[in-house]
Amino acid sequence: MSSNIINNFLSIQQNIKDHSQDSSPEIVAVSKTFTIEHIKPLIDHGHVHFGENKLQEALFKWSEFKKKNENLKLHMIGKLQSNKAKKAIRLFDYIHSLDNVKLADILNSEEKKTSIKLKYFIQVNLGSEKQKSGVLVEEIDEFYNYCKKSTELDIIGLMSIPPEGEDPEKYFKILNEIGVKLKLKELSMGMSSDYVKALKYNSTFLRIGSSIFGSRSIK
Ligand SMILES: *Cc1c(COP(=O)(O)O)cnc(C)c1O
Repeated sequence: MSSNIINNFLSIQQNIKDHSQDSSPEIVAVSKTFTIEHIKPLIDHGHVHFGENKLQEALFKWSEFKKKNENLKLHMIGKLQSNKAKKAIRLFDYIHSLDNVKLADILNSEEKKTSIKLKYFIQVNLGSEKQKSGVLVEEIDEFYNYCKKSTELDIIGLMSIPPEGEDPEKYFKILNEIGVKLKLKELSMGMSSDYVKALKYNSTFLRIGSSIFGSRSIK
């Protein structure tokens, strides 16, 4: 089992090398639903970036472990409720799902109180899907300007999950264009099924779960 995970990881790394020009994007190994025991081989291999989509699960799984392994970088890639911001900044290093003013304000004031500094991606709802999180494309300028003017959050880039069942490529292209326009260098896009396509549009953080750890029984 453990050698499977490492082999999967190595072949993804090779694939990335073969498909990216001169950049070397980070792999955020999405470990949601898997236990530390399952993830451990990749940690022992020396990988440091891991992603989770639920705060409760991440706290339970990683809190103690991270205290002993301070080099680990944890990424919150799922929806973050503003009433959980306080706990989130104490565990995570990156939040990929910043998408509203209230959340930005609370994160900002918690950071100030604690002197903790995270790195943030603004999540963009590229498909304008009602059920999805993220700032709408037409509201992104305004939201980013608000964050710059009224908070001290370190916003490093944009994140998106393209609509299901559509070719993700056009969405990766749009996210890249918005990033260029806003001069935001980092792009969190690409998952197990489409990371090679995301590389074409300069993704810098690939969020890859099942191709590394195997399929999940629950979402
Ligand atoms: C689960 C998840 C991923 C990883 O998906 P895989 O298809 O397993 O690679 C990436 N991003 C987000 C936001 C997720 O929730």
